[in-house]
Amino acid sequence: MLFDTHVHLNADQFEDDLEQVLKRANEAGVEQMVVVGFDEKTIKKAIELVETYDFLYAAVGWHPVDAIDMTEEHLSWLEELASHPKVVALGEMGLDYHWDKSPKDVQKDVFRKQIHLAKKVNLPIIIHNRDADQDIVEILEAEGADEVGGIMHCFGGSVEIADRCLKMNFYISLGGPVTFKNARRPKEVAKHVPADKLLIETDCPYLAPHPNRGKRNEPAYVKLVAEEIAALRETTYEQLAQQTTENAKKLFKIT
Ligand SMILES: [Zn+2]
Ligand SMILES: [Zn+2]
Repeated sequence: MLFDTHVHLNADQFEDDLEQVLKRANEAGVEQMVVVGFDEKTIKKAIELVETYDFLYAAVGWHPVDAIDMTEEHLSWLEELASHPKVVALGEMGLDYHWDKSPKDVQKDVFRKQIHLAKKVNLPIIIHNRDADQDIVEILEAEGADEVGGIMHCFGGSVEIADRCLKMNFYISLGGPVTFKNARRPKEVAKHVPADKLLIETDCPYLAPHPNRGKRNEPAYVKLVAEEIAALRETTYEQLAQQTTENAKKLFKIT
């Protein structure tokens, strides 16, 4: 009864042992996952996976780091994929100022185009944000992203930024970093977000939670994220698992 809202099982890191990884996820109670594609290769693979496994769903979008590679054809392709029965969101999209492969203005343009598309096809969006809190929130507000809402994935911002996102109909999703000893902000946010707006994720193969930090992450470890958040919120693991699963199903319209 766990829902991992952000996995990259479409990454090369899972090519050799996907069946084992899925088995461990199942044993840990992870019943559903959203496989996120963010460029040509990973989107194709995400679609392939969700057409193979019942319990996997897909999100498709263009990552800000590679924004400079996105063409009009890619955008039309995303629009086509939006009507696929197992595509439940657009993304990940957003801004990433840590890497400079794509200039900021290109990132912003590609981000805006995808928000417009999401409003056109009426799907929620999954937001990737690295070192770009203010610009992210400003663009979401200016583009009326509250119309579709979505997820602030692996949220690392402050309580104030979380509140502005909540106001715009966004869920806050926490991943591995909330388990790190020195992660003050994610822990504060974990305590602050209303129960019906909270989601959990791994972002695997990246950002493995404590005590697996630095290793390849996998969906089974979302249990560690759920346990940490339950402890921070002084609630039970069962309750936290049930609530976050309900939230994910509601957002993705999965029955
Ligand atoms: Zn991301
Ligand atoms: Zn991701």
